Amino acid sequence: MAIKTSKQYIEDLKELSPSVFIRGQKIDNVWKDPRLQSTLNLVGMNHDTAFDPELKDIAVVHEPLVDEPVKRFQHRIQRTMDDSIQKVKLVREVTQQRICGWCLSNTLCILWAATWETDQKHDTSYHERFVEYAKYLMKNDYDCFWCMMDPKGDRSKSFSAQETKPGLRIIKKDSKGITVRGVKVSTSYACCSREIMAVPCKALTEDDKDFAVSFGIPVDTKGVHFIVREAPQRENPENDMECPMGTAIGMVEGTTIFDDVFIPWDRVFLCQEWDMAERFPYFFANIHRQSKCSCLAGHTDLACGIAALVADVNGIPFKGHIRDKITRLMMEAETAHGCALGAAVDGHMHPSGIYIPSTSIANSGLNYIKNLAGEQVQLLHDIAGGIIVTMPTQDDYNNPELKKWLDQYLCGSDKYTTEERLRVLHLVQEVAASKFTGNFLGWAINAAGSPITGEILTREHYDLQKRIGIAKQWAGI
Ligand SMILES: Cc1cc2nc3c(=O)[nH]c(=O)nc-3n(C[C@H](O)[C@H](O)[C@H](O)COP(=O)(O)OP(=O)(O)OC[C@H]3O[C@@H](n4cnc5c(N)ncnc54)[C@H](O)[C@@H]3O)c2cc1C
Repeated sequence: MAIKTSKQYIEDLKELSPSVFIRGQKIDNVWKDPRLQSTLNLVGMNHDTAFDPELKDIAVVHEPLVDEPVKRFQHRIQRTMDDSIQKVKLVREVTQQRICGWCLSNTLCILWAATWETDQKHDTSYHERFVEYAKYLMKNDYDCFWCMMDPKGDRSKSFSAQETKPGLRIIKKDSKGITVRGVKVSTSYACCSREIMAVPCKALTEDDKDFAVSFGIPVDTKGVHFIVREAPQRENPENDMECPMGTAIGMVEGTTIFDDVFIPWDRVFLCQEWDMAERFPYFFANIHRQSKCSCLAGHTDLACGIAALVADVNGIPFKGHIRDKITRLMMEAETAHGCALGAAVDGHMHPSGIYIPSTSIANSGLNYIKNLAGEQVQLLHDIAGGIIVTMPTQDDYNNPELKKWLDQYLCGSDKYTTEERLRVLHLVQEVAASKFTGNFLGWAINAAGSPITGEILTREHYDLQKRIGIAKQWAGI
């Protein structure tokens, strides 16, 4: 089957009726609710990128597993260094324009490698099942969201030591399949996909073996409920001047409840092999963090372009300190992109056939750029000026009585009309001084894992002993 357009993606969603709550109320149709529209747009754009004359050569790739073209972001199994490099380039290109391209292909690669390893150690047959599932997603061009994060409760205790069992666990197992109960949090895109893919979020001990579970199921499976928060800045979609990005491509986030959900064996990819649970976050930590590193390079490009535009609108594009700040943003973007590419070049083949980028370079690059996210927001405030938090609203500007004053007094460089200046200032406000800013920072700081996890991984994979050896030689000891 061919790659689907955004229209066909919406048609696919119409076949399902997931249980979805927004602001405490159950909604009827995912594809009709205006609060989900920006997310539907964003996922739809991922489909349409495959038909974009400028991007399709990199966005579409022949996938041998199904002997068909697939979307690189969503369905490519990463088998070579070149796969890894091309994905990095595509990620930066897309994220500088619209924040997220949703790299489902990373999740396929994580499950590919983790199920393969589980079968080697436990003589199970998860990998074969997973490959069939991956083919199903590819052939139907289905989107799938990623349920990894458990709520975890008291972080100092294991799941089983806590009465509320704050995670997703197996409660029953029989000849037909398993039944799971619990919750996953922070599920981006939530109900706006066809399928859910669940995996463990951390290493487990034998006491927690029931939390060692992975599977893939449709979003409207009985017992699955989504508690979804609308995208930031979707409250007033008519005010496109005030929140252009949130209105167009803001992303919903979900809490996913599994109220005794039955999963047939052919969709189960891990069942109580507790010693393998850590392999899922491990492969996530190199395959997905490399993409996140170039994703944040893209976000930095976005901030850089906005900073340069607002400087121009204010008439100060070539002033020394402004140029230096914009140059700093350029260099941050290029450095992060370089790290993501470097992680690809210094990667290795996993015996399952997946190409794995360098863990220490991917994590170091990601931590470098994620630690600059707050400073980038600060630079936008600095370059744009205080008016981004004090200016009149779009409703004020739309009032003809006020407009005449605002047009006269709030102008900037004569290259731009006052309305154009206000549009740019509102864009800066959205990225640097709004609810959307919170998500912009959240995507940097926590999405793909909290900063400490990057440090731990770098410590594990960096060859410190070799460098101590060099120091000892020079010290003559
Ligand atoms: C915008 C956004 C989108 C996301 N999308 C997804 C998604 O699609 N799917 C998905 O599965 N997840 C998603 N996530 C979740 C993301 O992976 C987590 O937020 C991240 O891994 C951090 O986990 P946490 O939020 O539970 O924070 P915590 O793990 O609670 O971390 C909070 C702080 O506590 C510290 N801490 C926690 N436990 C310990 C401990 N035992 N010892 C010492 N320190 C500890 C951490 O180091 C950190 O400093 C998303 C997150 C965001 C912000």
